[in-house]
Amino acid sequence: MQKPKAIVVGGGLSGLAAAMALAENDFSVTVLESRPRLGGRASSFVDRETNTSIDNCQHVNMGCCTNFQHFCETAGIADAFHNEKELYFIDRNGNVNRFAASAWPAPLHLLAAFHRLGYVSAQEKRAFASAIRKLARLDRAPSPRQSFAEWLSENKQSSNAIDRLWNVVLVSALSETLDRVDVMHARKVFVDAFLANRTGWIVQIPTAPLDELYGQRLRQWLDSNHVELRLQSGAKSIHEQDGVAKTIELRNGEFLSAEHFVIAVPHFLVPDLLPQRLADDPQLSGISDLQTAPIASVHLWFDRQVTSLRHAVLIDRLSQWMFNRTELQSETQHRPASDELDGSEQATFYYQIVISAARNVEGLSQNDVIEQVVKELGEIWPEAKQARLLHSRLVTEHRAVFSPVPGVDALRPLQQTPIRNLQIAGDWTKTGWPGTMEGAVRSGYLAVENILAHCGRPQQLVRPDLPVSVLSKILLRL
Ligand SMILES: Cc1cc2nc3c(=O)[nH]c(=O)nc-3n(C[C@H](O)[C@H](O)[C@H](O)COP(=O)(O)OP(=O)(O)OC[C@H]3O[C@@H](n4cnc5c(N)ncnc54)[C@H](O)[C@@H]3O)c2cc1C
Repeated sequence: MQKPKAIVVGGGLSGLAAAMALAENDFSVTVLESRPRLGGRASSFVDRETNTSIDNCQHVNMGCCTNFQHFCETAGIADAFHNEKELYFIDRNGNVNRFAASAWPAPLHLLAAFHRLGYVSAQEKRAFASAIRKLARLDRAPSPRQSFAEWLSENKQSSNAIDRLWNVVLVSALSETLDRVDVMHARKVFVDAFLANRTGWIVQIPTAPLDELYGQRLRQWLDSNHVELRLQSGAKSIHEQDGVAKTIELRNGEFLSAEHFVIAVPHFLVPDLLPQRLADDPQLSGISDLQTAPIASVHLWFDRQVTSLRHAVLIDRLSQWMFNRTELQSETQHRPASDELDGSEQATFYYQIVISAARNVEGLSQNDVIEQVVKELGEIWPEAKQARLLHSRLVTEHRAVFSPVPGVDALRPLQQTPIRNLQIAGDWTKTGWPGTMEGAVRSGYLAVENILAHCGRPQQLVRPDLPVSVLSKILLRL
């Protein structure tokens, strides 16, 4: 019997997740990607100066990202992540605060580590713990228009605690400033990552460039599962007939037909692809009101090691996370020691610094940002002052993720469009998750769940969340 044909538009993680789930369920799948590479917003490019593949930005996930993990296991790339079971928070004075779980079950597993943090007072810690309990017990936002910054001030959090505790977690997780964060989005981060299960908070960092994961290794999976991949093939519009999506028109004028279509592109590109009559459909009208937030990454190549830590969370700085790419990649690549080099080669030590919610950086020159970041590193690690900066670059993704502003979920559409055989996917669709790789993968799985249901083969593809510990159920009513 001939396999049903499905076309997926977009080779980002949502489109790839959809394509893989379709292929596993016996569909004949074509992926159309307008760029010459896969991965979408989670991809790499070649830095000409160093002739190496570098990520547009460091991408990390956490233990609570169950669907992203399933996606990586299916694609055979789950081995390419380092599990950070100890986090290093570095305060203004350069003190390293080690943060790791004790043997207690959630939600008490991180309590001792939290109490050891040296850069907030005992009183601030008590107020934080009380607010966390209250936040966890919320079953809906107190007011749909209230921002999380307002909720925090209502709940008596000092500006020090906001800067050094709440901001540190949420700005990185949601890529937004707290005055632009929905209360329930903030709650989700704390519940899923820190309160429900002992492993939710573990940070997983790729040990290879994203292009190697999605552009090469995942591509092998697509090839061996007979997914047709068409790079540099931009889609122009979907055409319907009698209320059914029939064909897709490519930018080169070609038309392709299929029984099912999944549009997995960023939200601001969706309206142009959809049939005109959907443009004003109330179910999709919120798309044009979604806002976006920028993320910047500073890439630095030094002539010597600045720190041997694989990562660091930087408190009270412009920079929020430092990733030691040389150290992380040394797990998969051989790095020549200085005495192995032939004299013409220079040993380089590559660090990536991430600045989320980077609106304050957008107005600055590349040199100013790099100078400030290098200065901050020098204040923390004296080696950075001695080191010679061989090469640097700033990459700013202006529309990195959708902004989780108060009430945002009312604007996010379901994957099922009013046209039965047309799905939309993307981190910005209704997934219950913020703009993350987990959200992207979930949206792809949800789109395929709809397709399978239409084919009379209903199946749950979305993986369950981590189980909630008994103690979290009792103490926090999770
Ligand atoms: C700088 C930055 C840092 C981030 N850090 C993290 C992180 O640490 N952890 C995390 O979980 N998430 C992070 N994210 C978010 C994460 O990258 C996204 O949530 C996820 O990659 C979105 O995947 P997607 O498939 O929904 O969309 P996209 O990745 O945007 O994929 C859409 C694809 O569609 C293609 N396309 C567009 N139009 C067409 C067309 N007409 N025809 C064919 N193809 C088309 C695009 O080229 C693209 O490949 C970060 C994002 C950025 C930008």
